[in-house]
Amino acid sequence: MSARGAELRELAAAPAAPGARGLLEPPPGEEPYYRPVGDEVEVFTAAARDRLPVVLKGPTGCGKSRFVRYMAWRLARPLVTVACHDDLSASDLTGRYLVRGGDTVWQDGPLTEAVRAGAIAYLDELVEARQDTVVVLHPLADDRRLLPLERAGELVAAHPDFQLVISYNPGYQSLAKELKPSTRQRFIGIELALPAPEVEAEIVARETGVPLPTAASLVRVAQRIRPLRDRGLAEAPSTRLLVHAARLVQAGIDPAVACRSAVCAALTDDPELEATLAEIVAATLG
Ligand code: ADP
Repeated sequence: MSARGAELRELAAAPAAPGARGLLEPPPGEEPYYRPVGDEVEVFTAAARDRLPVVLKGPTGCGKSRFVRYMAWRLARPLVTVACHDDLSASDLTGRYLVRGGDTVWQDGPLTEAVRAGAIAYLDELVEARQDTVVVLHPLADDRRLLPLERAGELVAAHPDFQLVISYNPGYQSLAKELKPSTRQRFIGIELALPAPEVEAEIVARETGVPLPTAASLVRVAQRIRPLRDRGLAEAPSTRLLVHAARLVQAGIDPAVACRSAVCAALTDDPELEATLAEIVAATLG
């Protein structure tokens, strides 16, 4: 077998890394609920109009994925989401040859699909991906808007509607896991800050159906826990955790129990810290 043949067979046998099979989703038919927290909708719209790639910055659970889905609806564009991880290779994004019934056929990866279809490509936590994977984005993220498919010998020009979006959690990354300036400086940064307490309560109530005062009391718990970040807590409680707690309340669970299960237990495995958090819950909810 030729070296090329062996390479193709090996590629075909290698399963795609998990998360790499991004599916092209049509634009959401219904408006996804998204409560803007600043001027992110306007900035994203302007960036998309000018074909500038976007980096969404914010902690986990602050609404980045929901925002992208909302923008896909607003701009009526298909969406491809890829959860990045340290095993993700450039081929997982761009595509590979597969052996099918004795033939070798090129199969576009999720990024290539998005580039051709004029979709929004959302690469979640891109910083987790290997550097040789990240550099694939460079010619796509500047005004060339090109995706080279080296193995297929093709240079794909991005569809005019193609929009590249990556997310980044600045608090979570270690120094070794920073995006290189050569990558960062190609992107328009949009910071998704934590919403004001009354806005966060509105989101929790709207997402789950709990009464607004109940949502507000869950937000108060989070507000008291958030300062513990960096004093033992690796992550502060996100809006997502409050939504989970509110869902339990909506299912008939006592709010303090709901907070302990959905918030405290999700934030730490350290029994002492968990006990401290439980005390905060009890003191806040009375
Ligand atoms: P991220 O992608 O930043 O980790 P998500 O977009 O998955 O976070 O948000 C987690 C959950 O929090 C969402 O499913 C939604 O219920 C809620 N959420 C957070 N922020 C908002 C917002 N601004 N508008 C609507 N829902 C929000």
